[in-house]
Amino acid sequence: MLQDQTILRIPGPSPIPPSVQRAMNQSMIGHRGKETSDMLKKIAPGLKKVFGTTQEVAIIAGSGTAGLETAVVNVVKPGEEVLVVVTGAFGDRFTKICEAFNIKVHVLNVEWGKALNPEEIKAFLAGHPEIKVVFSTYCETSTGVLNPIDKLALAVQEVSDALIVVDGVSCVAGVETKMDEWGIDVMVTGSQKAFMLPAGLTFVAASEKAWKVIEENDQPRFYLSLKKYRDNLLKDTTPFTPALSLLFGLEQVLSLLEAEGLNNVYSRHALMKDMTRAAFKALGIPLLTSDEDASPTVTAVQPEDFDAEEFRKILKKEFAISIAGGQQHLTGKIFRIGHMGYCSPADQLQIISAIEVALKKLGKNIELGKGTAAAQQVYLAQ
Ligand SMILES: *Cc1c(COP(=O)(O)O)cnc(C)c1O
Repeated sequence: MLQDQTILRIPGPSPIPPSVQRAMNQSMIGHRGKETSDMLKKIAPGLKKVFGTTQEVAIIAGSGTAGLETAVVNVVKPGEEVLVVVTGAFGDRFTKICEAFNIKVHVLNVEWGKALNPEEIKAFLAGHPEIKVVFSTYCETSTGVLNPIDKLALAVQEVSDALIVVDGVSCVAGVETKMDEWGIDVMVTGSQKAFMLPAGLTFVAASEKAWKVIEENDQPRFYLSLKKYRDNLLKDTTPFTPALSLLFGLEQVLSLLEAEGLNNVYSRHALMKDMTRAAFKALGIPLLTSDEDASPTVTAVQPEDFDAEEFRKILKKEFAISIAGGQQHLTGKIFRIGHMGYCSPADQLQIISAIEVALKKLGKNIELGKGTAAAQQVYLAQ
């Protein structure tokens, strides 16, 4: 087999564009010098555009979970009650972080594979006026669901003053995000998913309403104090040494997104989703989510008559293609294909065709080319 080729189709980390790879190779610069300030100044408007906000977007060195913890320690005061909407493994992470800070957590569990129902959350909040923050996940990576966070925000605002915090780690920059317009109070994302960078950065923005809470919150925090990042950003600097190599890459990512056009980026992701789903439908292999709930960045497949783990092993062995398995109770029951960031319809055609070969190798009785043809039809029909 060809060495030094790995085809990464897990839902993050995702592949890195060559120009971003090269940008990250630049020699180190002084983090307090003009070059770094200029770079931060250039990055800020692009990030705001991706978030759909006029607020500052904090850039924090840490993985996505650091961003989730940042949200928790900045907007929740000790002793307060919060609601976490859990649609999968990442919703559950918010619960665990809140519990680590002795926050009283109400959990609303949604069946894995389904999207949250805004009406259900509205009804819950109407009966629990003490809830100060609602946590939810935009794309639930563990199931491939894209939650309707715009509708969630509308529903919450009808009955409650609670802040709305959203984990957008696996989809922001791959799906439309209008933080200000939708009334999202805190949006969190990370570098290694649709942002086409290695892991190591998390981005966090807060609304005016959230800033009022953050400024008077006496919850102890130091490295993850959002105010430090915002105040420094307003002076084109950072409170601590920034992850400069990742910032070099981020600057290039933003210029790639700008050149393609954000709307084109979003329709490319939607097209990859539709191609992938059409392929599995044509092959008669069930998908975990409905068309309505499906995320443009990751597709979860739930085979009935073959072993998901065995299938993943064959793809890896034959073609060096990595796809993800299931998490928690879905381990061994599903597999997930990431199609986010530096990924195109051409890549999807390649993956789908390789998947058909792997299914044959596994002994599954399929007609070769049927899934690929379905994906090709979706491509031609757009
Ligand atoms: C990947 C991911 C995270 C962050 O995980 P890290 O490993 O800390 O980067 C958080 N939320 C979602 C929805 C994710 O997909």
